[in-house]
Amino acid sequence: MNITKQKILSDLKKVAMIMFTKEFIDTSKEDQYEIFATVIKGYLSENWLKKNENYRIGKEKQVYYFSLEFLLGKMMCTNIINLGLEDLCMEVMDELGLDLDEFEKYDAEPGLGNGGLGRLAACFLDSMASIGIPGHGCGIRYDYGLFEQKIVNGEQIEGPDNWLKNGFVWETKKSHESQRIKFYGEITLKETEGYLTPIHTGYETILAVPYDIPVVGYNNKVVNNLRLWKAQIQGNDFDFNSFNYGTFSELDEQKRKAEAISKLLYPDDATESGRLLRLKQEYFFVSAGLQSIVSYNSKKGIRPSKFPETFNIQINDTHPALCIAEFMRILIDEKKVYWDEAWEITKKVMSYTNHTILTEAMEKWEIDKVQKLIPRVYMIIEEINRRFCNKVYQKYDDWDRVMEVAIIKDRVINMAHLAIVGSHSINGVSKLHTEILTKKIFKNFYELYPERFNNKTNGITHRRWLLKSNKALTTLIDDVIGYSWKDDPNLLEKLAEFSQDRSFCKKIEGIKLENKKKLAKFIWEETGIEVDVNSIFDTHVKRMHGYKRQLMNILHIIYLYREILEDKDFTMHPKTFIFSAKAAPGYYLAKRIIKLINSVGNLVNDDERVNKFIRVVFIPNYSVSKAQIIIPGSDLSEQISTAGMEASGTSNMKFMMNGALTIGTLDGANVEMKEAVGEENIFIFGLEYKELKEIRKKQSYDPIKFLETNPKLKTVVEMLRDGTFGGDFSSIYSHLIDGDRYFVLKDFNTYLETHRKIDKIYRDRDKWNSMVVKNIAKSGYFSSDNTIRKYAKEIWGIDN
Ligand SMILES: *Cc1c(COP(=O)(O)O)cnc(C)c1O
Repeated sequence: MNITKQKILSDLKKVAMIMFTKEFIDTSKEDQYEIFATVIKGYLSENWLKKNENYRIGKEKQVYYFSLEFLLGKMMCTNIINLGLEDLCMEVMDELGLDLDEFEKYDAEPGLGNGGLGRLAACFLDSMASIGIPGHGCGIRYDYGLFEQKIVNGEQIEGPDNWLKNGFVWETKKSHESQRIKFYGEITLKETEGYLTPIHTGYETILAVPYDIPVVGYNNKVVNNLRLWKAQIQGNDFDFNSFNYGTFSELDEQKRKAEAISKLLYPDDATESGRLLRLKQEYFFVSAGLQSIVSYNSKKGIRPSKFPETFNIQINDTHPALCIAEFMRILIDEKKVYWDEAWEITKKVMSYTNHTILTEAMEKWEIDKVQKLIPRVYMIIEEINRRFCNKVYQKYDDWDRVMEVAIIKDRVINMAHLAIVGSHSINGVSKLHTEILTKKIFKNFYELYPERFNNKTNGITHRRWLLKSNKALTTLIDDVIGYSWKDDPNLLEKLAEFSQDRSFCKKIEGIKLENKKKLAKFIWEETGIEVDVNSIFDTHVKRMHGYKRQLMNILHIIYLYREILEDKDFTMHPKTFIFSAKAAPGYYLAKRIIKLINSVGNLVNDDERVNKFIRVVFIPNYSVSKAQIIIPGSDLSEQISTAGMEASGTSNMKFMMNGALTIGTLDGANVEMKEAVGEENIFIFGLEYKELKEIRKKQSYDPIKFLETNPKLKTVVEMLRDGTFGGDFSSIYSHLIDGDRYFVLKDFNTYLETHRKIDKIYRDRDKWNSMVVKNIAKSGYFSSDNTIRKYAKEIWGIDN
């Protein structure tokens, strides 16, 4: 298909006529968006269909990425870029006197994820398509994504994210590929012809309806599939013959109950609330996805023994860990495969990615709940556990040892253990994280199966996080090193030789300034706060969580506030502290920290003695589209988690790619960023994981004693409960002095010193710019294309 300006113009006309019986130019802006997006969808659909046909021939091994979250962000512009239609669309817009940015406002934003984990899934989809791996997503089509955050009186108020209210152009409903999911009921086992056949009675059936979203590869004609399932009542067709008001309301109630399963995304980023609906969601999409994959392969005549050569399933964190048991159920009960063979197939097909070592985030389900909700699956988990425990006992002859790795213990199922036992690969998401997994969290499993453990450091797609979010920088890079880096972001390395090129560095600085102006305008619109674009934009954006230590950042700001007021000779390069973060609705401390940031902000921004040096802004409702504005306009990236607690981080990479320097701890992928760029080009501070481990072991951290030797810091901490900021922050105070597991005070002094050092270096513009260039040059290493190539080769057995 040859797409020209003329073709787009005539297609717009045609589609306007079909959809609205009007000339394109006579329709409203919103309708024009819909027409335009529909035309673009038409262009990619041809390849979507073709690719699906290729896949159907069954030559290529397929990958299915199971994830409870896909934090996609808006899709119109990235689709246009990946289709190679960006310039053409610009021309069309010019000709029609329209503006693509304005259209983008109407593009629905699927925020179907909490943060890093969901965004990683989205980057991986983009990379799989772009490097030509037949890799598809499998998840839930939530009616409501992550809650919308409003800030009222400095506090977070949650509202619904009704992202589907004006429809979603990019999806296609595939009713005929719906699956039936069975919940509850009883199982009796009957022996027939050598098989134990389970008879399931008294169950409830929920219909899973798939909605497919195209995932467009970059300039390569590949279009993969993201399949999201919606829950519906079975037999939705209303029977008018039997109509009476009694059954009508009953039906309504059933419908409401069924649809509740895909109603909303749970807003917890690192704690599992253990609610039944969450478990239902997990089984719902696991079962729907696996049933559709197996029935599709069976139709093609592929026998179960060939499944491991035909497809792989990647389990993104433990949320889809029921894949292990559900796949076994399908193989044994429906495909009549014997246990031992089914188990071998399952292990070869499945692989598991761990995302966290925070113990409160380790998913566990009470067996009573699981047994009641999915009785047959529970029986299988019990049998997996029984066989596994027997094996371990045979090996060690030590019952304590067995209990340490058991899948079921104290009447709860440990989902990570299930995922590990049933997978051939278990990976962490950065070198440090993987090391902690093998040496500590899953030490016993590592001893059992050392060959299963491996590292795959996270990555980001440069197509969204550079080509889309930073067009000016993209163009400048093209001018200097040519275009090939867009296909292979490792080639960004070529920029390194320009790090001492003053004229190039000045251009980089100029682009940063322009992006800061855009961000300043955005901040004004969002918060009504005016900021100085010549100040250092120091940015801390991510979920609000104790371990991410936004608290340390705001304490530093309070410290500066005091210094400015007390010290007449105080001076510093002006700084704008930018925050954006959602707190889990039930996470009290995180919500108090949001309030504290806003309260300190009010005080600081209104005080003329202070606001000439520092200003504080909190941008409400952090999202992918906001990140795309905030990150390119930042000078400094705050990545200051307690060492050992951030599994990888990915926003650290986005900032690096957009020419912000990092102030960070040796945690997650920061460690590898430092290795890549050299320690002189990143601001690393704070205690290391091993040092903290030692402190924990010796229990040698006493915040109260620590404050006695740090009088200035002590005054800052006391301000939390003396009413300086209005509001009551005594809960934060107590947290800090009650043995704070995140060691905020412990790292405070080096944090402070590092900021002073940064202040000095920033004033040396040439030095700063040259560091920026070196960071951009090394950022290609953190492309998710690299990450996915490693998954493909080392986990899925695909050589690409
Ligand atoms: C990248 C991204 C994240 C992850 O940020 P971290 O700092 O790595 O935790 C979270 N939310 C959004 C919207 C993102 O784009």
